[in-house]
Amino acid sequence: MRIVDTHTHLDGRQFEKDLAEVLDRAVAAGVRWMMCVGTDLASSRRCVELARRFPGRLRAAVGIHPNHWREAGPDDMDEIERLAAMPEVAAVGETGLDFHHKFTPPDEQRAAFRRHTLLALSTGKPLIVHSHKSDEEVLRILAAEGEVPPGVRHCFEGSAQVAGRYVELGFHISFAGAVTRPGHNKTKGAARAVPEQRLLVETDCPYQTPAARGGARNEPAFIVDTIEALAALRDEEPAKIASLTTANAMRLFFAELPSPAQPPGDRPALES
Ligand SMILES: [Zn+2]
Repeated sequence: MRIVDTHTHLDGRQFEKDLAEVLDRAVAAGVRWMMCVGTDLASSRRCVELARRFPGRLRAAVGIHPNHWREAGPDDMDEIERLAAMPEVAAVGETGLDFHHKFTPPDEQRAAFRRHTLLALSTGKPLIVHSHKSDEEVLRILAAEGEVPPGVRHCFEGSAQVAGRYVELGFHISFAGAVTRPGHNKTKGAARAVPEQRLLVETDCPYQTPAARGGARNEPAFIVDTIEALAALRDEEPAKIASLTTANAMRLFFAELPSPAQPPGDRPALES
């Protein structure tokens, strides 16, 4: 199998000690590429650094998560915009709305999300969208510019109906560990209904550990559990789910980029 894990937080301190082994286990499990997704400026910088350190395995997404926007400095988004132009960066995010936690007041979240949406449109890089109890507003803001950037609604746990509305806007739907757990029938219904060309998989590691892995820290190698669960739900072979989600991820995140093998040239240095 050849798998793309479209959403990881491998920059986190949970992976500080053994990242090389985690990546080896991912490769052994068939994971070809992993997206390292930033949640604030420091995390986005680390994702870019990791994409440089592991150019054949990792690509970065840069953005400020709605739950971290409140703590961001006044110039942090300017710096995200600068990072977004770098060749190691394959996407903008994660961004979106979180009306469950509301760590950031909703109006500030909406403005931040719009700024990320405009950045995706201006860079031509896809948008990675988080939503918690806010899909209606996310869909409204995405449609508001008249032009919807390509993107993904990550870690989807909603209904087939809501998934269908994202698909209508051209979005992809990415499933994580929920489909491996008992219950979660609404999410499983969505996992059956999303059209083949819009289906993606992710671990969202270290979070969202699949059911069979106990309380362990999640890691990209465990994505095979989600692929097997999706295969069972859709009555397909796991290899088919792996190949179609990989084709979708390559088209969304990796099509427009210069080869990662190319020499770094005069890329600006990163300070942390
Ligand atoms: Zn995330």
